[in-house]
Amino acid sequence: MDELLKASAAQHHNLCPRQVLGVRAGLLAGLLLDLPLPQSDKRLIAISETDGCFIDGLIAATGCYVGRRTLRIEDYGKTAAAFVDTLTERAVRIHPKISARDGAWDYAPSARNKWEAQLIGYQHIPDELLFHWQWVELTIPVKQIVGQAGRRAECEICGEEIINQREVICEGAVVCRSCAGDSYCRSIQIATSPHAA
Ligand SMILES: [Zn+2]
Ligand SMILES: [Zn+2]
Repeated sequence: MDELLKASAAQHHNLCPRQVLGVRAGLLAGLLLDLPLPQSDKRLIAISETDGCFIDGLIAATGCYVGRRTLRIEDYGKTAAAFVDTLTERAVRIHPKISARDGAWDYAPSARNKWEAQLIGYQHIPDELLFHWQWVELTIPVKQIVGQAGRRAECEICGEEIINQREVICEGAVVCRSCAGDSYCRSIQIATSPHAA
């Protein structure tokens, strides 16, 4: 675990308790799914329910990366993640117990403050005291979550290319999600000129 914590902290400002939770959750997922981690292939997909510190720990422990298309974020603002074995479709969702925040003190008796108690305690507290976990099934098939790599389509409205099977059919037309009304941004008019004071 020390190696993984170092790898996580290298991507971060320093080591913090949530990174430890991410590393521990990833290690537990490997145990429960009986997969050797960190993986060098794409068999495991991690779906994190938050971004931030937790995910850096997850990445270090699992070898799942956004760039490899093995890590996704469903931002529910929860320190939790589901881990999916794409071969067997077995999936487990793991999240920390609230009680572990205080329980961490028992595993870091010389800690000087709460933050340090969590940082050290989370590294030593047993899985059963640190996490809840449950076997789950995905509401969207894993094939659909991943999409079809190499597939290309062209949006009939904006003309932009759509990869990985993210196109949708809207009133019989092949369109991108933005043109289907599911956009996170919209165009605005900027009235200022580059020479304006
Ligand atoms: Zn942090
Ligand atoms: Zn479009």
